[in-house]
Amino acid sequence: MSFESQEKSLRELCESLLRDGKVKSVAGFGPQSPDTGLSPPLIAKTAGNAKRLSWNSRCVPSIARYLIGRDGPAAIAAKPCDARAVASLVTERQLERKDVFIIGMECAGMTDGSGAPLRACAECGTRRAPVCDAEITGAPETARGTRDAAEDFSPERFRREMDKCILCFSCRQACYGCYCETCFMDRGVPSWQSARPDVGAKMTYHLGRAMHLAGRCVECGACENVCASGVDARYLIRAATVFVEEEYGFRAGMDAQTPSALLTFKSDDPETGFWKDGKHD
Ligand code: SF4
Ligand code: SF4
Ligand code: SF4
Repeated sequence: MSFESQEKSLRELCESLLRDGKVKSVAGFGPQSPDTGLSPPLIAKTAGNAKRLSWNSRCVPSIARYLIGRDGPAAIAAKPCDARAVASLVTERQLERKDVFIIGMECAGMTDGSGAPLRACAECGTRRAPVCDAEITGAPETARGTRDAAEDFSPERFRREMDKCILCFSCRQACYGCYCETCFMDRGVPSWQSARPDVGAKMTYHLGRAMHLAGRCVECGACENVCASGVDARYLIRAATVFVEEEYGFRAGMDAQTPSALLTFKSDDPETGFWKDGKHD
């Protein structure tokens, strides 16, 4: 069992999907860059191009967002976290389920340039896509941890992470869930952003983003993987993810039917507030 055998099966399947006209394109990963070793996103539109699709431990980027606005049915070579992102985009009506053919790639976890597991992957407990139309198994065996809980949340830790941030917005650009045409941070009226990237602007951005991603994060780690400043960009969002799962029993992208906790209201919804023990300061 290996990445190579999964890659071979992936190429064969995508070639036939494109050749038979079942999809107009396939979103996946291209050959590894000789400079960075990363496999960048690749959109294959012909059977010939499908031969360039790659599958290895450096297929790091989150690619579900590349399906939004695509013409006609499209397939995606989806890591489990990508499949969860697609399912979320379906429940948020950004994609039609019938227009996406999800190829679930069993995932052994992605690595950094030195071969070490990426942090989100080391914590990830999802090896197989919870939603898919075809599945390519055979990922190499890897040891996995459990999902990090939110107990390490503290104002001091938050401040430390904020100090490292240079407010470049790369984490937003990398995230499947940040697809607003104009982010609240870029709006002129009202303006949420101060002229300087000071701690107030950073807190506004990260708290705003955490609220918008509450219960929508698929735990892919794309935000922290792109951060050049080493900010744990999942930090606050992870706390919100654990909160939503504990309070509302919802985990994003585990099926393509259940709308996210943010999109639903029930009269018996718990109203505990984020700090369940009542401490607000
Ligand atoms: S977060 Fe999980 S599913 Fe996504 S690449 Fe890492 S190990 Fe695979
Ligand atoms: S957390 Fe990192 S990627 Fe996100 S805005 Fe700050 S510096 Fe940029
Ligand atoms: S917030 Fe980060 S970990 Fe969560 S879905 Fe977005 S990029 Fe992935």
